[in-house]
Amino acid sequence: MRWVGAALLLAVLGAAVLDTPAAFARAGGGNSYSSGSRGGSSSGGGSFSGGSSSGGSDGSGLLLWLVFEHPAIGVPLVIIVVGVTIYQKSQQAGYSGRSVSRSDREPYQELYRERPVPAPLQLDALIASDPGFSMPLFMDMARLVYTRSQEQSRQLEPLSAFLAPGARTAIERANGGEVVSAVCIGSSQPVRFTAMGEWHRLVVRFETNLCRANKSGKVLQYVRTEEWEFGRRAGATSLGPDRMQELRCPSCGNPSEPRTNGTCTRCDTVINDGRLQWLVREVSIQSSEILPRLGLTLGGGVEEGTQRPTRPDPDLGVNLRKLSATQADFSVTGFRERAIATFLAIQSAWSSGRREDLRPLESDFLYQQHRFWLDRYAAEGVRNRASDVQVRQVDFVKVTLDGYVVAVTVRLFASMLDWTEDKSGSVVGGSKDSARVFSEYWTFVRSVQAKPQGVVPGAPQSCPSCGAGLDRVSESGVCGYCEAKITSGTFDWVLNDIQQDEAWRG
Ligand SMILES: [Zn+2]
Ligand SMILES: [Zn+2]
Repeated sequence: MRWVGAALLLAVLGAAVLDTPAAFARAGGGNSYSSGSRGGSSSGGGSFSGGSSSGGSDGSGLLLWLVFEHPAIGVPLVIIVVGVTIYQKSQQAGYSGRSVSRSDREPYQELYRERPVPAPLQLDALIASDPGFSMPLFMDMARLVYTRSQEQSRQLEPLSAFLAPGARTAIERANGGEVVSAVCIGSSQPVRFTAMGEWHRLVVRFETNLCRANKSGKVLQYVRTEEWEFGRRAGATSLGPDRMQELRCPSCGNPSEPRTNGTCTRCDTVINDGRLQWLVREVSIQSSEILPRLGLTLGGGVEEGTQRPTRPDPDLGVNLRKLSATQADFSVTGFRERAIATFLAIQSAWSSGRREDLRPLESDFLYQQHRFWLDRYAAEGVRNRASDVQVRQVDFVKVTLDGYVVAVTVRLFASMLDWTEDKSGSVVGGSKDSARVFSEYWTFVRSVQAKPQGVVPGAPQSCPSCGAGLDRVSESGVCGYCEAKITSGTFDWVLNDIQQDEAWRG
């Protein structure tokens, strides 16, 4: 009787301790922007599975009872449990040379977790006065302005058409005069819209990583949360992709910086007053922390969020029908195949470190994110690998169509062996034996004017503009054969965003 009880208890406790998944390593553990992302995991799934230690409290309660009531069983059990825990900790600490403890990561996890889910944006007033407003294009512009502003934060004059003086001061101050050497936007979301008085204000929240070199040349990486208020005068109307995906004079397209009085050097239009284009009016730094080293944890398992039901957008059915009616080459089956093929191609490119294979499949924003993390892994002397990648299910979640861009979001359920190895091939994160099971929201975009591509069952193998191979696509997404930029969705679908299931807000 006793032995049966002890064996059962041992099984329970063993499961509680050994299966506690802790933070997964898929994205390098840690949180979205604090540690990394495998291709396909722009905002590392690991983060959110780490916080809760499942089963721990039940196990320890039983254990305490046993220690006092049946010390002959309880005491040895305590020794076993403590030993296993210490062993696990030592395994984790072994990689970084210092303890990559929960406490290192928790601030970031909490940062993400405690964030309230905002109510859906009410854009009625904006759409009423500007029916051509395109959120994907607006976000392209917002991310571009953000990235350029950080990169040039010691010399912001050339961006004065897009940054009000107060915003410029805030950006300069936030970087303390240091040189920003790399910018990676982990997440960017419009969080508030207000139409009051003569201004329309759209606030975007950025969660980013910045590398900054201090005066002695030491590069530190920061994780930052910021809110940027973009303002435009009521009555202004949206510009097309050529003026939203590049920072140019909103009136004539001149790429040169304006004069100090805010006029364009070519067409003399005042371009920094929010009458033609969005202008950053305020920058508020919500948090800024130095990032700890990559936090890697061993193990596979099912990630938090995977079991959550898919909640399709209420307009999904209507917009899918609209899409089928207006885009001759669109079909649900074809798109599903394309999404799966892209997923597999990206995992393969990521695992082999072939960034040139990622490039044609991803928007500039996403590629920049993935390149950042590939570099970071390389800098730490490790590589994130994946094998046995399987897509188990694809759910359509959301379709948006505006005057310029179609965006389709699907939720992909997948499993893979996902591990991180050091130079000697030793596994320092994840697991080569135990698969990780997870789901992610992938958003693809394409211009509404894209020519039908015919049936493309797999991931694209050729330039959608000229049909040549994809072996000469530059870092900026330009085809070396025809000089067309092929990563902005003008010709074909590109992957624009990846969200973890626990972060998806619809
Ligand atoms: Zn101009
Ligand atoms: Zn081409």
